[in-house]
Amino acid sequence: MRKILILTTGGTIASVQSPDGLVPGMSSNQLREHLPQIGSDIAIDIKELFHIDSTDMTASHWIRIIDAIRDNYDLYDGFVVCHGTDTMAYTAAVLSYMIQNSEKPIVLTGAQKPIGFEITDAKSNLQDSILYAANSLSHGVQIVFAGKVIAGTHARKVRSMSFLAFESINLPVIAEINNGHIIRYLNIPSNGRVQFYDSINPNVFLLKLTPSMSPDLIPEIFSIYDAVVIESFGAGGIPASIENTLLTELSKYRPEEKILAMTTQVTYEGSHMNTYAVGRRIADSFKILEARDMTLETIIAKLMWILGNNSKTWDEIEQRFYTPVAMDSVY
Ligand code: ASP
Repeated sequence: MRKILILTTGGTIASVQSPDGLVPGMSSNQLREHLPQIGSDIAIDIKELFHIDSTDMTASHWIRIIDAIRDNYDLYDGFVVCHGTDTMAYTAAVLSYMIQNSEKPIVLTGAQKPIGFEITDAKSNLQDSILYAANSLSHGVQIVFAGKVIAGTHARKVRSMSFLAFESINLPVIAEINNGHIIRYLNIPSNGRVQFYDSINPNVFLLKLTPSMSPDLIPEIFSIYDAVVIESFGAGGIPASIENTLLTELSKYRPEEKILAMTTQVTYEGSHMNTYAVGRRIADSFKILEARDMTLETIIAKLMWILGNNSKTWDEIEQRFYTPVAMDSVY
């Protein structure tokens, strides 16, 4: 008998219609009534953590999810976290860093339509997730959605309404689930003992570049945040119009005090700052971290984990950033 713990956090999957629109409000008992058919060799417990639209997800909610998994880790064979789809990719990335080397699968799932609706993807997503979490070959953090199993460090929500909401970016899907059968493409090694981390520093800002952007906000951003991720164009570069302001601001701090990381607005194939002069000159004059094939959600989560867990010097931060965790980088 495999034992699975379902943790509910809200989201569309557990939402009900209200005069103001969909609100997450289904209790664990109501959810249990809608649970799809599961084999008698799987026992399921459900624990309600909170009921939020995942738009309202914060670092303290992440800590509550992590604590619930840690507190129950020895009691179950696998975990399914029901979560709103909007920020699920961020949560999956955060859990991938905060719970490392988990031999037991930690699956995130949700739905584009509530489980109580006649036409819904919730039941099949939940059924696939339970099946995957109960399988002894599954390890680590993944999203199971619309028949795909996606590494927690490579998921992105790519559709806002239809059922095929998630894609795996810069890594093939780990597996597919078809009619109750798991077809595995990538083997996830389970190496070592699970390691839980305690704290997250959410003080990471995302600056998306647009052509002709004014540099006026840059000093303010650096005065507030510990790390700034610049979402640049193409292979990666910084426009001359903001470069000087960036240099002036960063020179006011030690490199470990204000982290600058670069990623790209292009969905696939990552950043390659060494390709063009606009990128190479930045890499030469700044101490920066480059995303390469890591997704935006993943570098934000990785920085929150690194800055929250005792990285003191620039060298430590740089070394941790470039050390692959949970298949976040394969280049
Ligand atoms: N707004 C919802 C949420 O993220 C959307 C969903 O769950 O699909 O909580």
